[in-house]
Amino acid sequence: MSQKISVGVIGATGMVGQNYIRLLNDNPWFEVAYVAASPRSAGKRYREAVAGRWHMLTDMPRAVGDLVVEDAGNVGAALGKCSVIFSAVDMDKEAVRKLEMEYASKSFAVISNNSAHRQTEDVPMLIAEVNHEHCDIIPAQQKHYGWTKGLIVVKPNCSIQSYMIPIHALLQKGFRVERMIVTTLQGLSGAGYPGPSSLDMVDNIIPYIGGEEEKSENEPGKVLGKVMEDRIVPDESISISAHCTRVPVIDGHSACISIEFAGAKPSAEEIKELWRSYRSVPQDLRLPSAPRRPIVVREEIDRPQPRKDRDTEKGMAVVVGRLRPCKVFDYRFVGLSHNTVRGAAGGAILMAELLKVKGYIEGGKRVKDKGRS
Ligand code: NAP
Repeated sequence: MSQKISVGVIGATGMVGQNYIRLLNDNPWFEVAYVAASPRSAGKRYREAVAGRWHMLTDMPRAVGDLVVEDAGNVGAALGKCSVIFSAVDMDKEAVRKLEMEYASKSFAVISNNSAHRQTEDVPMLIAEVNHEHCDIIPAQQKHYGWTKGLIVVKPNCSIQSYMIPIHALLQKGFRVERMIVTTLQGLSGAGYPGPSSLDMVDNIIPYIGGEEEKSENEPGKVLGKVMEDRIVPDESISISAHCTRVPVIDGHSACISIEFAGAKPSAEEIKELWRSYRSVPQDLRLPSAPRRPIVVREEIDRPQPRKDRDTEKGMAVVVGRLRPCKVFDYRFVGLSHNTVRGAAGGAILMAELLKVKGYIEGGKRVKDKGRS
């Protein structure tokens, strides 16, 4: 009998959902036992529901292909099949908020890619390397809603890891970043399937992605915030100005970043060394999805590039390059992360592994982390 923890994916037929199916197939701790999507897909076998729109470069896992897709809105269908729900549904925000609450109230650990709960005060928004200690709010969250085992944790927006992980490497060594200007160049898969039409995207760049600049500016504050009893209080010390664009790249969100320090300013060599040596709790705990090198520094003048660098460390590393002085702020550099892996399914699976080790997911064992922040 399998010793793995049974998990469900809601929104399993979409871009992020398919990445869950692909990545979970190789995961040593979790296995997919439940898939759900919209009523359009419900009742079909998974392989039929995604026929003609399976976008992964690997074959669909046979066992998942055989599963019957449920209607994600029918929470009862998941009972007894799994204890963890990865949420990747694309629905109206209020509907997602209610649906995720309903799964949590039925004792599921809900790990969400949706933005619906990102600003809920007692819902942690995790980048596992950066704010793993925000998991400490889960008992207060469970008490607040009267849940015994259910919980909700969310991932931040798919573009912010390309700059927040490199920035965290500086902050944790005591260098204070005060201001940032970020221009993102976001891949098409970030818009889901089918996304923008080819006539809009070939030979073109769209200088607007609805809601994305606000998320890029506001979400880092919560990620860097502190748990104060029953809520997470955002850290407002970094002012961020973001400009988000959609570019004709399939996978990979790049960001051009200028930063200004408050107080001590490291040298460029020091910054690169801090990036190269950056490790955190997921690496210490050897979580199965943790990249050995969370930040990879490229020295070539023309890297990182999405096509060449997005799959570094199986898509879980942030690749940085072009660190140089900035004529307006102190430094500028380019960051790249794989939006559907590190920025979505892979990052969320890493969060689930962290929750398992911390004892919040059944089958896990609670261990103390090493107190890094
Ligand atoms: P997508 O490709 O459009 O897939 C949407 C999924 O939601 C499909 O499985 C779809 O099922 C399901 N769905 C749609 N309406 C539904 C309903 N009424 N009830 C239940 N399920 C419904 O979108 P995506 O790119 O995978 O994004 C999914 C979520 O992740 C979104 O909230 C998005 O903002 C977030 N996200 C995306 C990325 C990324 O890089 N793409 C990164 C981070 C976060 P059917 O196939 O049956 O229609």
